[in-house]
Amino acid sequence: MAIKRDYYEVLGVSRTATAEELKRAYRKLALQFHPDRNPNDPQAEARFKEVNEAYEVLSDQSKRQRYDSFGHAGTQGMPGFDFGGAGFGGINDIFDMFFGQAAGRGRTGPRRGADLRLDLRLTFEEAIFGVERELTIPRAEPCSACQGTGAETGTSPQTCPQCRGAGQVRRATQSIFGQIVNVATCPRCNGEGKVIEKPCRTCAGSGHRPGEKKVRVSIPGGVDSGSQIRLSGEGEVGPRGGAAGDLYIVIQVKPHAVLKRNGTDVVYELPLSVAQAALGDTVEIPTVDGPQQIDIPPGTQYGKTIRIHGRGVPHVRTGRRGDQLVFVRVVIPTNLTEEQRQALRQLGGVSGKPQQIEKGFFDKFKHVIGLE
Ligand SMILES: [Zn+2]
Ligand SMILES: [Zn+2]
Repeated sequence: MAIKRDYYEVLGVSRTATAEELKRAYRKLALQFHPDRNPNDPQAEARFKEVNEAYEVLSDQSKRQRYDSFGHAGTQGMPGFDFGGAGFGGINDIFDMFFGQAAGRGRTGPRRGADLRLDLRLTFEEAIFGVERELTIPRAEPCSACQGTGAETGTSPQTCPQCRGAGQVRRATQSIFGQIVNVATCPRCNGEGKVIEKPCRTCAGSGHRPGEKKVRVSIPGGVDSGSQIRLSGEGEVGPRGGAAGDLYIVIQVKPHAVLKRNGTDVVYELPLSVAQAALGDTVEIPTVDGPQQIDIPPGTQYGKTIRIHGRGVPHVRTGRRGDQLVFVRVVIPTNLTEEQRQALRQLGGVSGKPQQIEKGFFDKFKHVIGLE
């Protein structure tokens, strides 16, 4: 974890700063580093987050006390500052944080649509080499009768008379501390700034209709279960002309009958007879590129790992392929004929003493059999 700066230092205030001083310092810095004023500036974005986090803790009496006593350790497990996941809102959101939590985000204008999630099952090979798929996504489409405005044909949404299009209403109340101005989302238009006098009959004023859309996606090679692909703007359309959300495709990979993945390597367990292991052989093994012949040298031991270069999984970004690891398993016969018994006795293995095995034997294959 990176070293965190002192929250008071972040806001440039003394440790005895009053709530009012904190608020003033925060507001100044938040506006200065707001992403809307610093587009594509990761440094400003980092400062903005830092400033928000500091203010989130110091503006809360109990959190501030814990921070004063225990430092950053005292703030562990505190609910983090919610950036809404979808990115920062407009610059007005900063003011919303000061006025009326109950009012929600209170942003004016059409809202962004919801993000959608789609689970996609791929075969072992598709996940390794990538695949193109056409997906049918059930999602709302803009209503064609009203062009997504929600207003009946021939009419259009009108500027809200209560907030005059601002989406927010201010109420001033007198108290012993003086006048308090309270800003809340306009109840008439729900913060959208516009009202619909005659809702569209086709979509009942929502501006969208149930529908589905076909989307072609190209899944890159090297993805694995849990990988996510984001298709920007392919999610649900926003109500009444709002921007569409994103579509997240979450990958699930079906297991292969005999091959396993270990990072960018493919692991295969090769059963050999005692004779094949002792005398050597040429055997055909499955790889993700199809069957391949490999040579088994004479005297191959149980647990030997044979590495086939470049037959593994491509790295999802670089495309560089891993290897296939062939783990040798010598199968000890169980049902022997008398003839085979004789042959094995002649091999000289029956001496009453344990056989010598090479050093490091277990280390070599424990990762394959799952001890690691
Ligand atoms: Zn409509
Ligand atoms: Zn209004």
